[in-house]
Amino acid sequence: MFKHVLFLIAALGFLNTGNTLAHGANTPEHSTIHITHSLSYDARKANISPKIVDTIVRIFSWEIDFNRDLQKGDRFIIIGNSNTHPDALIYLGANKRVAVFAYTDKHGRTNYYDINGKSLYPSFSRAPLRYSRISSKFQRSRFHPILKTWRPHRAVDFAAKRGTPVHSVASGVIQHRKRMGALGNVVYIKHGSNYTSVYGHLSQFARGLRVSQKVKKGQVIGYVGSTGRSTGPHLHYELRYKGIRKNPLTYRLPKQKNVARADLWRFKNKANKVLDALSNH
Ligand SMILES: [Zn+2]
Repeated sequence: MFKHVLFLIAALGFLNTGNTLAHGANTPEHSTIHITHSLSYDARKANISPKIVDTIVRIFSWEIDFNRDLQKGDRFIIIGNSNTHPDALIYLGANKRVAVFAYTDKHGRTNYYDINGKSLYPSFSRAPLRYSRISSKFQRSRFHPILKTWRPHRAVDFAAKRGTPVHSVASGVIQHRKRMGALGNVVYIKHGSNYTSVYGHLSQFARGLRVSQKVKKGQVIGYVGSTGRSTGPHLHYELRYKGIRKNPLTYRLPKQKNVARADLWRFKNKANKVLDALSNH
């Protein structure tokens, strides 16, 4: 879906030439954050409210790693009223361009969607295994069978046969794929800047799996095993939000939302008008 957005934006001459927007008669009201130091610093300088900065981080963190990807010279363009709900938010980076547009649903909630009417959040599955049995739940304290002590288990263990395929719970990027102490063969997958999923005790990694590789939801990333500190074949699965382990079975994950079908045509039309207006100054 991003290909379309990128194509559309790339088609706009002003974005490629790096010109700043002129305030012509047809140019919509907008503000620009020019990145020189950091998003929060540069946003303050551009008089952008912290609320809008929060919105930018919340939405774009699915596409941009704010610590790693943001570079001097990148820009965020806020179109429309920059104090409440802007009409559109556009990120123009050296390597990436992302545009999202406001849409208010029938409950009156405003969210941001790409030009095809899809939110940037990936959808998550609850479990990384198709058929399995939970052998140890997320709990504050459990008696560890090997260490013989009471320890918290902030993960879910799924009992499954050795060799059972393990699937990524959402689209993301491989962060680690290695042998790591008690977790044995482990894969870490980053989903946006805030979410990480962890898969431990694998017997094997999926063939060709490497760090920095993009994976899709449901893609096989490895196979159940008993490597590391483990009493038998099972998958140790963790879900982390901002580094904190959450109960993967109950945690309220962001849901991928779409613009209502009945409104889609109008939404796309409006989004295209915003882009056109920007290019026709
Ligand atoms: Zn475990």
